[in-house]
Amino acid sequence: MGKLDGRVVLITGAARGQGEQEARLFVEEGARVVVADVLDDQGEALAKEIGAHYVHLDVSREDDWSAAVRSARGAYGRIDGLVNNAGILRFNELVDTPLAEFMQIVQVNQVGVFLGIKTLAPELAAAGGGTIVNTASYTGLTGMAYVGAYAATKHAIVGLTRVAALELAAKRIRVNAVCPGAVDTAMSNPAQLDPGANTEEASQALDELYRKLVPLGRIGRPEEVARLALFLTGEDSSYITGQPFVIDGGWLAGVSVL
Ligand code: NAD
Repeated sequence: MGKLDGRVVLITGAARGQGEQEARLFVEEGARVVVADVLDDQGEALAKEIGAHYVHLDVSREDDWSAAVRSARGAYGRIDGLVNNAGILRFNELVDTPLAEFMQIVQVNQVGVFLGIKTLAPELAAAGGGTIVNTASYTGLTGMAYVGAYAATKHAIVGLTRVAALELAAKRIRVNAVCPGAVDTAMSNPAQLDPGANTEEASQALDELYRKLVPLGRIGRPEEVARLALFLTGEDSSYITGQPFVIDGGWLAGVSVL
C-alpha cells in the first residue's frame, strides 16, 4: 500500500530539483502525478521515465492553468492534490532592484501560488476534498539580505496558505506550506546547470559552507523536502491545515554562539 494510492497530484516546477523529487516519491507512493513546468524537454523526459503525465504550465499565466487542468482531467479524470513548487530567485540589494525584476518574482512565486489555489480548489472540492502544499521558504518567516523580492513573495505565500486553509476547510481541502532552508538544487547550487561542472565537488563545497551556518551541519537535500511534501499530502497529516513547516537543519532555531 502506497501512502498516496488513488490520489492524483499536480506538481508545478517538477522538471527538476525539489519538484522532480516530489514527483518521483509521489509516483512511488502510488499517486498519479501531473508533472508541470516550463522546461518541456526535461519535464517530458521525467514524466516518461516515472510514468507520469507532463503538461506545459507557466504558473504566472491563468490560461496555462486552465489548460493544465483540462489536460490533467483528460489524463486522469480528476485532481485531488496540488503542490505549488515552482519558484525563481534573484539576488539584489532592495534599493537597487529594478521594478521589472521585483514584479517578475512576484508574478511567478506569488501570483503563481494564488492562481494554483484559485484554479485547483474547485477541482479538489469536486473530487470530494484534497490537499494543497505551497512551497514558501524559511525566508517566508525571517529576513535575508539581498533577496528582498524573493522573501516578500515567500512571506506572501505563508499568508495565502493561512487564508486558503480557513476558506477551504469546509470543502475538505487542507492547505499547508513547506519552508525549506538551503537545499542542494540548481537554485542554491547553480553548478548543477553547468554540464562541465563537477556537481559532487560543488555539493561538498556547499556542505562545507553550511557546516558553520546550520546546526545540522550541511545543506538540505531535495529528497528531504519531498518527504515533507508527502507527509502534508497524505493521510498522516489528516488533522493539520494552515501551517508553515520549516525544514532547514535548525537554521531558524536561534542564534548560535558556538
Ligand atoms: P529549481 O530552480 O531547481 O526548480 C525550480 C523549478 O521551477 C524549475 O523546474 C523551473 O523550471 C520551474 N519554474 C520556474 N519558473 C516557472 C514558471 N513560471 N512556471 C512553471 N515552472 C517554473 O529550484 P528548487 O530548489 O527545486 O525550487 C523549488 C521551490 O523551492 C521554489 O519555490 C523555491 O523558491 C523553493 N525553495 C528553494 C530553496 C533552495 O535552497 N533550493 C530554499 C527554499 C525554498
